[in-house]
Amino acid sequence: MNVRGSDGYFSSFGLGWLPMVLWIGVDDTDSLQGMCTTFLATELVSELTDDYDLIGYPRLVRLNPNIPWKTRGNGAISIRVGKGRGAIQTLGGIRGRPVRSHLRGESPGDVTEVVERVARCVERLSRFDDPTTNPAFVVLNKPAAPSLYWKAVRGVVGQRTALAAVRGKATIRRYKSGRGVIGACAATAWRPRDRTYEVLTYRHPDRWGTERWIDRDSVIQMDRRFPSTFNNYDYENDRVVIAPHSPCPVLFGIRGDDPSELPAAMATVKGEVPDRWLIFETNQGTDDHVSPHSAPQVGTTVRIHGNVRLSPRVLPGGHVVLRIGDMDATAYEPSKQFRTLVKALGVGDRVQAIGAVRKLPWTLNIEKLNVVSLALVQKKVGNPWCARCLRRAKSMGHERGYRCPGCRARFPTSAGTFVRVERKLEPGWYEPPVGSRRHLSKPLKRMRREEAEALAASSRAGERPRLVRRDLVGLRDLGLGTAARSARRLSRPAP
Ligand code: ATP
Repeated sequence: MNVRGSDGYFSSFGLGWLPMVLWIGVDDTDSLQGMCTTFLATELVSELTDDYDLIGYPRLVRLNPNIPWKTRGNGAISIRVGKGRGAIQTLGGIRGRPVRSHLRGESPGDVTEVVERVARCVERLSRFDDPTTNPAFVVLNKPAAPSLYWKAVRGVVGQRTALAAVRGKATIRRYKSGRGVIGACAATAWRPRDRTYEVLTYRHPDRWGTERWIDRDSVIQMDRRFPSTFNNYDYENDRVVIAPHSPCPVLFGIRGDDPSELPAAMATVKGEVPDRWLIFETNQGTDDHVSPHSAPQVGTTVRIHGNVRLSPRVLPGGHVVLRIGDMDATAYEPSKQFRTLVKALGVGDRVQAIGAVRKLPWTLNIEKLNVVSLALVQKKVGNPWCARCLRRAKSMGHERGYRCPGCRARFPTSAGTFVRVERKLEPGWYEPPVGSRRHLSKPLKRMRREEAEALAASSRAGERPRLVRRDLVGLRDLGLGTAARSARRLSRPAP
């Protein structure tokens, strides 16, 4: 029995506990050749809502992005069903039928029937032919403990750990190796501290595998009209980012902070007409995957702080490597213009980098970087002046000082005439262009918004504005200097 307690659900769909609803978690049903676990979620919703009510939002939960056996974005899904109570909202449409969801619910009674329907759906749609697809689903009368989510989003979890987290409250079906049970259980374990939403639209089945038709200008228009959305268009590389390039059923997905704006944002995008759409609550763009411990372990995402020890070097293939403290950190070629920032760093600059720890080569794959402070860089413009002979001294070699050719007086290296070199970058956060970001990485746009909201809240409370997090000062996108400057103005405490 689910009772109020640490496993209660705290929803932004409204604030409320969801006692006794059924929690369904599914993972590892798709392959690179087709399908998508979120599409399966739409089929499940369609199948189950004939006789049961959907409770809250369906959830798309991204797990550790460094898992080598993931298909694409390591996403798992969870949905809740029961007898609906409270307010109703429309969260989607499937073949012309609206998908409605209740704020809260009660047990639907017959668990066996729900299990059988989920099984039919998973067995019909999973890509069993793919050797790397190992589907599983769970139906729980109480969600898995949140600790499982944190382990699965930041580390590596075994099937036994996942199963232990749902012992006594689950019906579990595993197919093939059953590895999908890890994601299936972990998806139910997510209790959002931070959350975003994504409206996913899907193509008519007869179009799957063909080229998608999405009007670029309408995506730009949507991006500008709905500032609560993010990661829509890569202005630096002139690229639509809302559509995948795989043969999967997804037409496009729009991510945002305000779910109520997503249907209108979706309608702004012109092109192929979707067959169905559904709004998911997600952990995308939250930085949940970043471990609070800095000790770099392979397969985790960490935050390291330190001084740049070795100047950036460019490897064949265009990857840029930097030594931060005693660890190499790399901006790989797919991070595109972000590498310009990394190349502009120099010895002595203080930085904080967030990235995934790789084993071979042992390096931090940089996801986001905060330039905390810049070292003073000087350029020598003249040798020291000998006041006795009224002439310039001559260098005696690198770091060996100078000697006057007339009176032989010696001068230290520091006696030369130096000018300060103008740096090409400023302190602040930097991130790769929109098309090169990880699903879980919190975009600077969201960080800025959080900061602005916190400042507004503290000023409403009559407090002196203060920074939420010191490291937000100078938030900056590459190539978006104006936004960066306004962010810095926001950051400045009142005099
Ligand atoms: P898509 O995003 O296209 O749905 P995917 O990238 O989610 O696909 P899956 O096919 O689901 O990839 O494969 C991921 C597999 O890794 C699943 O079997 C899942 O249970 C497992 N998994 C997820 N997170 C972890 C983790 N932290 N530790 C161990 N296994 C994990």
